[in-house]
Amino acid sequence: MKCRHCGTPLTLMFLDLGCAPPSNAYLHAADLERPELCYPLKIMVCNRCWLVQTEDHARADELFCPDYAYFSSTSTSWLAHAARYSEDMIVRLGLTADSFVIEVASNDGYLLRNFVAAGIPCLGIEPTVSTAATAEKLGIPVLREFFGEQLGRQLAAQGRQADLIAGNNVYAHVPDINDFTRGLQAALKPGGTITLEFPHLMQLLEHTQFDTVYHEHFSYLSLYSVNRVFQAANLRILHVEQLSTHGGSLRVFGCHADEPRLATQAVADLLAEEARRGLQAIAVYQEFQERANRVKDDLLGFLIEQKRTGKKVAAYGAAAKGNTLLNYAGVKPDLLPFVCDAAKIKQGKFMPGSRIPILPPSALTTYEPDYVIILPWNIAAEVRNQLAGLTGRGTRFVTAVPRLEIA
Ligand SMILES: [Zn+2]
Repeated sequence: MKCRHCGTPLTLMFLDLGCAPPSNAYLHAADLERPELCYPLKIMVCNRCWLVQTEDHARADELFCPDYAYFSSTSTSWLAHAARYSEDMIVRLGLTADSFVIEVASNDGYLLRNFVAAGIPCLGIEPTVSTAATAEKLGIPVLREFFGEQLGRQLAAQGRQADLIAGNNVYAHVPDINDFTRGLQAALKPGGTITLEFPHLMQLLEHTQFDTVYHEHFSYLSLYSVNRVFQAANLRILHVEQLSTHGGSLRVFGCHADEPRLATQAVADLLAEEARRGLQAIAVYQEFQERANRVKDDLLGFLIEQKRTGKKVAAYGAAAKGNTLLNYAGVKPDLLPFVCDAAKIKQGKFMPGSRIPILPPSALTTYEPDYVIILPWNIAAEVRNQLAGLTGRGTRFVTAVPRLEIA
């Protein structure tokens, strides 16, 4: 396999999580009688451009699961994040009714609704039919397509280049990152600004977030690697902000390579910090598997001990992270009888691979577990608050990443 950015043959393994089904392939009861499709889940790192990337096995369209779509607007904290971003960008870039904003992967309109409210023309690009329809009901025009160079050029030819192109949690999920970036360049007006948000590889390394690895997540991005991808597409990084979302994300600001705006000090500072932490050297990648294995072993040890001593354990949060962790650890319903999730669409189904049933959160009240494992550790505080009623009955909360912690 060759690097998706620079074409160098990939020889350096970063992480091997064995074989796993696509993380959003939730099972119906009838599916339990059938075999499941599993793909190797291996992450390689390019020792030339240091892009960390999944090995090519499954194709994106195979991974897309038609009866499940994530609606961004279900998270109130994410809606608030999007509203703050929109206000900030309108002021910072001086956007008016004469401006044009494009969001790639506009989902259900959680972000662009703010630009519609401010009277700024916008366009969403979103291939998922159900979320696109929801956005259109909010008055947001949506192109139901995958974004890439061809679509970027088409928009430019129609005179629809944007003053602002936003992409939240899409860049890491794009199979062809070069093509996508060339599309951004083509669709960007001269003097326009691109912002992309994605989980930061430096945080993944620092906090052993190996459970954020799944097939649909093609790239694990540093500022260094994004800088290289931008440069190859005639773009340049202007500014970068570190965000707390998704366990530590970057918001990268980009522009055309040939425009006069100067890059901020934050860009040079973060590039230097990544270098200091060894992101452009082999060692940090070679030791990661061992760290991931320690997290996995500790979780498994904890679950086995609870089973032997007759304690009751359940989990909360049937999201992708949980699937990666449980499948790598080989946890099955004998060790973890159920996972609760507030999303009705998941309730009554089963976790892919582990086949652990997904129940509504009310199941915790009747079960009265000794321990609840919070699988999405990035929202652990929020979940503990929601489930505060359980602590009065002696329930304790557990997170497994970056290390096993019992609160
Ligand atoms: Zn490369």
